[in-house]
Amino acid sequence: MAIVDCKPCEACGEPVMMLVHAVTGKRAPINRDPTELGNLVLELTNQGWRYRVLLKGEARPPAHEIYMPHFATCPAAARFRRPANVIPLHQEAG
Ligand SMILES: [Zn+2]
Repeated sequence: MAIVDCKPCEACGEPVMMLVHAVTGKRAPINRDPTELGNLVLELTNQGWRYRVLLKGEARPPAHEIYMPHFATCPAAARFRRPANVIPLHQEAG
């Protein structure tokens, strides 16, 4: 069950939670349903829910579910990934 409001992923329609990184403040879509395969924990702060990434080898905090970033499972994730060294097609001459 989701702890915050979900909205459908713009690319694939899966329900995702838009949450803010506890440190960087960046928003990211996170899969609604927890999974042991994930690497994110959600923590309730004074500013609301924040997510953070578990460190490698870090044990799951007690009483926390583990969540998966939606980028990891979205079938349309390629649309999100825009590495800086990729030139968008529409900039081609012609
Ligand atoms: Zn998606």
